[in-house]
Amino acid sequence: MATNKKPGNWKKRTLAVRAGQIRTPFQETSEALFLTSGYAYEAAEEAEARFKGEIGGYQYSRFGNPTVSMFEDRMAALEGAPVARATATGMAAVSAVFLSGLKTGDHVVAARAMFGSCLHVVEQILPRFGITTTLVDGGDVGAWENAMRPETRMLFLETPSNPTLSIVDLKAVAQIAEKHGALLVVDNAFATPALQRPMEFGAHIVVHSSTKYIDGQGRALGGVILCGQKFLDDSLQTFLRNTGPSISPFNAWLHLKSLETLDLRMKAHCENATRVADFLAGQRKVKRVLYPFHPDHPQHNLARAQMEGGGGVVAFEVEGGKKASFKLADALGIIDISNNLGDAKSLITHPETTTHQKLTPEARAVLGVTSGLLRLSVGLEDADDLCEDLEQALKVA
Ligand SMILES: *Cc1c(COP(=O)(O)O)cnc(C)c1O
Repeated sequence: MATNKKPGNWKKRTLAVRAGQIRTPFQETSEALFLTSGYAYEAAEEAEARFKGEIGGYQYSRFGNPTVSMFEDRMAALEGAPVARATATGMAAVSAVFLSGLKTGDHVVAARAMFGSCLHVVEQILPRFGITTTLVDGGDVGAWENAMRPETRMLFLETPSNPTLSIVDLKAVAQIAEKHGALLVVDNAFATPALQRPMEFGAHIVVHSSTKYIDGQGRALGGVILCGQKFLDDSLQTFLRNTGPSISPFNAWLHLKSLETLDLRMKAHCENATRVADFLAGQRKVKRVLYPFHPDHPQHNLARAQMEGGGGVVAFEVEGGKKASFKLADALGIIDISNNLGDAKSLITHPETTTHQKLTPEARAVLGVTSGLLRLSVGLEDADDLCEDLEQALKVA
């Protein structure tokens, strides 16, 4: 098998199309899907040598697969990371980082505004193994510093966060992690490497739910962990091999091919979301619009300093709480009601009663998840049609 030409100093668009490609002797132009669980050896001696690590080559798809490797190498190139490992879901990626990198007695500092299942892992699962967590307001740099303890090993954050799109200063928090010898882990699902590369600001580990914008068409689940060689060798690799959160080669192939259009799609998502945010900001029944690049967003300057675009998600608050939010959602003709995001199709959800339902009312209040808040994942339809759909639905609300 021939690997692709060396990336050298290829730009992001070229990397997204070309990086990591492995060609078989058939010289296929499109990346091959290796739908195989195992691999055969020419001789018993070869099997022995591969298991000893004396020679390269694949052994079993729980450990590695050529299609999965192509996806991992392309992701690493795009994030500017030394290495990548793909997983079955975004949550498998997050869990593997915590469970492989931490032990009893360790402490984690995490931004309070995080994906619901990530909160479950840090609040419910890690304590069972004697790993404690302090939750902080991610936007308050002093709070990160104050929460640090001698046993703090990891800092975890999402930026922009779900659903209120609050921004965390990556450079400042990375400096705190560095000073205390801890690892900064960033969930980059909302921005993708097309809009934000956390390692450029000092993050040590980046995790993704490739289910979202990387797939981009709502088809398949997947996750990615990007890290340094040392974390892979000392913690992650053995954990992944033996616990088995491996991605299906088929899903890896879908996400690998999706990367080819990631940059184009993210630009279109940003353009549409900007149009929709501007439209919503001018509506009488809309109390508040949150979009990272919108001038009304309290941290829009920080967003512009670390992101190349505001992303595809817009959050907004309507007058009239839950009742008006439900009426609006039910009246939409194009935009679907769905808790997923990052699809070509525009999707809307009411976080209070769906994604953030399990939180206490106090926890929701701290995060700004009010009864009138809606999260809109703006898709790739025509922005005029989306604004018209919202306009007629707002009349009903
Ligand atoms: C969806 C999501 C996850 C979890 O990913 P899955 O692929 O659904 O397991 C984690 N973090 C963020 C920010 C997400 O949006």
